[in-house]
This record gives sequence, structure tokens and C-alpha cells, in this order.
Amino acid sequence: MIKELTCICCPMGCSLKTEVNETGEVVSVTGNTCVRGENYAKTELTASVRIVTTTVLAESGKPVPVKTEEAVAKDKISDVVKSIKSVKIKLPVKMGDVIIKNVSDTGVNVISTRSVD
Ligand code: SF4
Repeated sequence: MIKELTCICCPMGCSLKTEVNETGEVVSVTGNTCVRGENYAKTELTASVRIVTTTVLAESGKPVPVKTEEAVAKDKISDVVKSIKSVKIKLPVKMGDVIIKNVSDTGVNVISTRSVD
């Protein structure tokens, strides 16, 4: 089966054409300009993951930008966003502070991406 994707690893957005066999294994990737595109296609078609970026609210109502420290499985993103939206934090926070440990049992922490007083 042929599947087409757009690589999201850099602004060039290369159009990738992949061939997937009957067991779901990616057997070829073309259209990529660098090896990151091949790796992206293989991961996307077998174990799709994303970094989640959003904001949490401080008790004062100020939004604090956050992201997952690592990519999480795509099917966990909705749970992760719900968990992030359910917390209120105390200020100040520094960039890189852990806001939620092991969010939604993913093994990944949510961290602040900016210092907020
Ligand atoms: S294949 Fe390489 S050059 Fe093309 S979009 Fe992906 S990272 Fe960028």
C-alpha cells in the first residue's frame, strides 16, 4: 500500500511517498531531502507521536505556556490536554519547571516554556 505524508520536521515540508507492506512495515520512503524525513515517516506510520504545547492557568488567571518534555503517543493527546487544563498552578514559575509529572500516565512530564511572575 502506498501512503503519502508531508514531513513536519522542518519548514521545507517535503512530500513523502511511503510503501507499507501487508504486515504494516514501512518498506520504502521517497521524497525526503534528509534522513529525518525517513525517520518521521516510519514513526508516523507505526507509532505516531507528538509534542503537546498549550497553556495552564495560574491561580491568578494568568496563562503559563507549557509543553510535554517529550513526544507522547497521538492517541494520548486528548487525555494529556484534559489533564493540563484541569490544573491551576501557583506563580512564579521558571522556564523548565515541571508543572505535571507523568501526565496521564505517559511517563512524560509537562514543563513550563517561559518564566512567569
Ligand atoms: S525530509 Fe528533511 S528537509 Fe524535508 S521536511 Fe523533513 S526534515 Fe525537512
